[in-house]
Amino acid sequence: MTFRASVLTLYPDMFPGTLGQALAGKALADGLWSLEVTQIRDFATDRHRSVDDTPAGGGAGMVLRADILARAIDHVSPADDPRPRLLMSPRGRPFDQAMARDLAAGPGAVIVCGRFEGVDERVIEARGLTEVSIGDYVLSGGEVAAQIVLDAAIRLLPGVMGNQVSGETESFETGLLEHPHYTRPAEWEGRSIPEVLTSGNHARIEAWRRERAEALTRERRPDLWAAYTAKKPPPER
Ligand code: SAH
Repeated sequence: MTFRASVLTLYPDMFPGTLGQALAGKALADGLWSLEVTQIRDFATDRHRSVDDTPAGGGAGMVLRADILARAIDHVSPADDPRPRLLMSPRGRPFDQAMARDLAAGPGAVIVCGRFEGVDERVIEARGLTEVSIGDYVLSGGEVAAQIVLDAAIRLLPGVMGNQVSGETESFETGLLEHPHYTRPAEWEGRSIPEVLTSGNHARIEAWRRERAEALTRERRPDLWAAYTAKKPPPER
């Protein structure tokens, strides 16, 4: 079964964007996932094809109308659609690797890209949209965010990543940031590759990588480190 992505946007030309290149692009061409992009404006009802209106209660900016967005959603995602319906939103649940895994394990996603000040709250409730944020900053629209969410999910689909093993030790999968990488040349600008990595001793290499991953996580991400040590007590010294 193919992972089906449906994106609703006012800027369809922004797709497939980055998803049309490299790993995701090849997977798209190979039919490992599909992408349907829908112009929300096509569901406008007036002669000016307007999709937004001024905020109730006053204030700056415009709000995407519930009736028009709902018509667009209903067109691509009938009531019995098993796919999650996501709304890209800075108020949403912070997107993470676990969410990417869940998405990749499912039938696909319907993703609404917001614009303006946001969308009418009633359509979020009525169509069961799950708000998802890609981080604590404000973008001008949800299109880049949607590509980030899809990119993270698509690379996890079966057959997409050439080297399946690479997924398992990656940052966040183990609860740790990943260890540093090196490749030839053996010496560059006076810097050499850590000796252990060229030793051929796999147990030592594993131990070194784990030690570096733990040290990096402790230094850079106290939040991840605290969660990691809560689950798994640190080794005895
Ligand atoms: N007024 C809103 C921001 C609107 S930004 C607020 O203060 O919360 C316009 C659109 O960009 C949003 O509707 C959303 O779809 C998208 N967007 C902006 N920042 C985002 C983020 N961090 N994560 C996901 N989508 C985001």
